Amino acid sequence: MFQGYRVRYDDTRGPTKGGIRFHPDVNLDEVQSLAFWMTFKCAALNLPLGGAKGGVTVNPKELSKFELERLSRGYIDAIANFIGPDVDIPAPDVYTNPMIMGWMMDQYSIIYRKLSPAVITGKPLSMGGSQGRDTATGTGAFYVLQAMMTRFGKSPQTTTVAVQGFGNAGSVIARLLFDAGYKVVAVSDSQGGVYAPGGLDIPSIQQFKTSTRSLKAVYCEGTVCNIVQDHAVITNDELLALDVDILIPAALENQITAANADAVKARYVFEVANGPTTSEADDVLAAKGIYVFPDILVNAGGVTVSYFEWVQNRSGLYWSVEDVNDRLKSMMVTEAERIWKIAQDLDIRPRTAAYVHALERLGDALNAKGTRDYYVSGI
Ligand code: NAD
Repeated sequence: MFQGYRVRYDDTRGPTKGGIRFHPDVNLDEVQSLAFWMTFKCAALNLPLGGAKGGVTVNPKELSKFELERLSRGYIDAIANFIGPDVDIPAPDVYTNPMIMGWMMDQYSIIYRKLSPAVITGKPLSMGGSQGRDTATGTGAFYVLQAMMTRFGKSPQTTTVAVQGFGNAGSVIARLLFDAGYKVVAVSDSQGGVYAPGGLDIPSIQQFKTSTRSLKAVYCEGTVCNIVQDHAVITNDELLALDVDILIPAALENQITAANADAVKARYVFEVANGPTTSEADDVLAAKGIYVFPDILVNAGGVTVSYFEWVQNRSGLYWSVEDVNDRLKSMMVTEAERIWKIAQDLDIRPRTAAYVHALERLGDALNAKGTRDYYVSGI
């Protein structure tokens, strides 16, 4: 027996949407907070969706594949009454993946005796998944970063970047930045990082990470030294304190804290991870004049392409990866520019501006359903 949760936080703007986490620390408080976060992320990106989240308190690494499948199908048996393409649409989160989404969609379809691909996103391509979903978070973050750098008049060739976390999201943005000509001088994973002031060769690091599953292979062991020239091995704390233009936390939550925020020298922080900066650290960074572009904007590419997947499942017309990325770029850049304008107009931080932006949309939708203000002002 495992304890599981599904929280639908707010559906003012549409069916609720949010991932399913399989992790030993999952609890109701956490799931509820993450569902709140999704509400604001979807509103900030103008997706016609509300916020939800789910999870099971389990260490999936202790389960066999067969047990994992039974757990995934059992979870859907338990929540089938509360989800659906027009009600609540789950997706992957920590330690869940396309295979698990496929089992869950299949289970829901068995219960309702009709194929229902639009009930869940992040599925394998062969079961109605979307092109571009696997790279969406890093790609969306790259579009936001590029738009902001253009606005600040910074050219890629003279802009240095450090990326903490070289996983799904971090490695994708590092590669796109490298391809666009930015100098990615440092990357790291849970075991540490590498630093080369002249810029790292990201494609070869990506190749080694894929074959060895660890950046350690890059730490000047064996033949790798020949590929990654002139680099130093650094700790994650050292990475956060590097003198670079842009810092990208793309690993875990609570990485920039009151204890280390003062050491941050970057001019811009783009939060690819969820919640990498604590509120105390946020104040320290603001006092130092550092712009922090918040997670609910920067990493929203994942949920945006999940939304595209749902649209494709409902219409039955599937898009090319170019179509997906064009639409993603247009939405990410439009909302980033709007949030930046609010920050300028109201003289507030980009994070506060993102919440203002999302709250305005939530407020408009609430009003349109009929509040006293709505009737009095006759909007
Ligand atoms: P992932 O597991 O693929 O990658 C995480 C990376 O961080 C790994 O390389 C890991 O080694 C590294 N890491 C772990 N602890 C570290 C530490 N202390 N210091 C430095 N690196 C460390 O996960 P992901 O999917 O890339 O997600 C990363 C972050 O982005 C998470 O906060 C996640 O919530 C957020 N995010 C991801 C998506 C998505 O679609 N993948 C969407 C929205 C938000």
